[in-house]
Amino acid sequence: MRPSITQAAAALLRGELVAFPTETVYGLGAHAFDERAVAQIFEAKGRPTFDPLIVHVADHASAELLVTEWPKAARRLAAHFWPGPLTLVLPKRAEVPDLVTAGEPTVAVRVPAHPLALALLRAAGVPIAAPSANLFGRISPTTAAHVEEQLGGVVKWILDGGPTTVGVESTILAFPEGRPVLLRPGGVPLEAIEALIGPVEAPGPEVRATMAPGQLPQHYAPRTPLYILPRRPPPGVGPIGRLALIPPADPGDVLEVLSPSGDLTEAAARLFAAMRKLDQSGVAAIVADPVPAIGLGRAIMDRLQRAAFRPVAKPGLK
Ligand code: AMP
Ligand code: MG
Repeated sequence: MRPSITQAAAALLRGELVAFPTETVYGLGAHAFDERAVAQIFEAKGRPTFDPLIVHVADHASAELLVTEWPKAARRLAAHFWPGPLTLVLPKRAEVPDLVTAGEPTVAVRVPAHPLALALLRAAGVPIAAPSANLFGRISPTTAAHVEEQLGGVVKWILDGGPTTVGVESTILAFPEGRPVLLRPGGVPLEAIEALIGPVEAPGPEVRATMAPGQLPQHYAPRTPLYILPRRPPPGVGPIGRLALIPPADPGDVLEVLSPSGDLTEAAARLFAAMRKLDQSGVAAIVADPVPAIGLGRAIMDRLQRAAFRPVAKPGLK
């Protein structure tokens, strides 16, 4: 059902799930302080409970109610990039349910930059825990129809805000001992973050194990095997992000070009819908050109690599 904001907020407060658009992808939301509601998210998605959720809030003041400590860099980032596709992992207050954080002493928070998401957060007046509104490990939804396809049977309320504009998930940063660490590349380019707060570290093995239990190597995966071609990404301007099918529909036919003009922002916005479209075409495999790993290209390559990862893949195919 397509609810009004008032209906959706009331449903959330009753402990029901509501799917809603954000600027990144569609989220599957539950009242973050209602553990029974949060448990339904894991059940609906088939998501393991060791994979913590991002808590969405309407504004900075609401984030304060979830977090005990703000390193200086985190404050600056929040002031600069919220509302926006940046998630900050910070020490949590005791009231934040353990189910939301998978038992971590930290909570992941962000203020989404989407008018419907913000309207829902304001109308409900509570933080909303929300992962992407897809089955666990599969392609993230960038339209309400995508949500319907995978979760229509289990989620009654789906707010429709049209296609999302950013198209890849938020950038996630943690601050172990106050040092900024990139847990996931996403909608805010690393370059923009480093311009504001200086160098950001890559997660070391200890960080990966304890801080990002959900960063599984295979994710965002189409059912059709996807392979990244061992080519260099094209330098400068020109078409980027060609995704093709094997066998091709017409020999040499490139079926999806994420951005004909080489615009990484446009490519990110189109990535998941293009993967979905090719996945549904019933062919044997999808091959993808690498894109330049700069700006939003980092997030695109991260998603392609996780979509392509196959534990049993033969060497050389990946
Ligand atoms: P998503 O799958 O887009 O909902 O993003 C959730 C991801 O955020 C998880 O898979 C984790 O990698 C990360 N995350 C969420 N909460 C935490 C936390 N408390 N500590 C570390 N990483 C977190
Ligand atoms: Mg997801």
